[in-house]
Amino acid sequence: ARAARCCCACQPRARVAEPRMRAPAAAGPEEVISRAQGGDARALARLVSLVENGTPELRPIMKALAPLTGRARVIGLTGAPGVGKSTITGALVTAYRERGLRVGVLAVDPTSPFSGGALLGDRVRMQDHATDPGVFIRSMASRGHLGGLSWATPQALRVLDAAGFDLVLVETVGVGQAEVEIASLADSTLVLVAPGMGDAIQAAKAGILEVADIFVVNKSDKPGAQEAVRDLRTMIAMARRSEGDWKPPIVTTTATAGDGIADLTGKLDAHWSWLGSSGERDRRRRARAREEVAAIAVAALRQRVAGLPGNSRLDVLAARGAPRDTRPYSPADGLVAAATT
Ligand code: GDP
Repeated sequence: ARAARCCCACQPRARVAEPRMRAPAAAGPEEVISRAQGGDARALARLVSLVENGTPELRPIMKALAPLTGRARVIGLTGAPGVGKSTITGALVTAYRERGLRVGVLAVDPTSPFSGGALLGDRVRMQDHATDPGVFIRSMASRGHLGGLSWATPQALRVLDAAGFDLVLVETVGVGQAEVEIASLADSTLVLVAPGMGDAIQAAKAGILEVADIFVVNKSDKPGAQEAVRDLRTMIAMARRSEGDWKPPIVTTTATAGDGIADLTGKLDAHWSWLGSSGERDRRRRARAREEVAAIAVAALRQRVAGLPGNSRLDVLAARGAPRDTRPYSPADGLVAAATT
């Protein structure tokens, strides 16, 4: 259902952008890549699907894409369901399109691997962009594959980067650890809160303060916005910070009316400049590369462990209900040794 929804966002654009480009089913990787670079949404969608499915075909494709990456600016948006992530994403897409930038959107839902949670594809405001050839929108779910979203998201980002998107917005539901991992992919991370949802405090508890480069208090047309700003200001003031560190600003928006969006893009530009001048951009990108390698390695190890004969021992242990006298370390060591030799 998700894929079908997503395609309604992507396919009309494919028809508008490249009316005669129908990729034959057997198009090779080079061909799909060059079509994706030419802005062919079907080719892009196909590459992202390969990423989602983790197919073996992906390895040579990623190798071919690698030299083309490193240009796209990545902005992450996170926050509780309903705070206005999609509305702000839509408003940012409009603002950056006005600057003539090509914009990709990855809406990542780490909480519902198979279905559920409404994502971007079916939302009216995002459909404003569905026929714009300079915009590519894609919802992603982990679909339970071995590497999960921490594996798939950086790969999908690479695809959009290599295809020449200037800017990629990664939208994630802000619950638990997953969005912190995904936020680590971004050059700039926006943490969204809305008045009356109690999420400013929740955000602090979840350690979100550490990932926020900019706080957005959306729904500022509703009562309680000033209190949310005040709570955040107190939290920011209490955080330990060294000289020269970035101090996250707070932007208030009413995304539905487009209010505060210019202020937000201004703060994003300021952060982008600071990333460059402080050397933080390179540091973040190195960290991103390291995490990407680790995620691929861990997924590969998992796959090998799952395929090992010794892995039946896991079933034996599980069947015993893992009583206290089992020794999980030595069977685990055995599996790791077998997987790495
Ligand atoms: P998401 O779940 O975080 O992506 O939130 P959405 O963008 O889907 O927004 C949830 C609801 O809040 C929608 O009905 C929006 O129209 C509404 N909404 C978004 N921004 C604002 C705002 O600034 N003010 C008000 N009053 N409603 C908003």
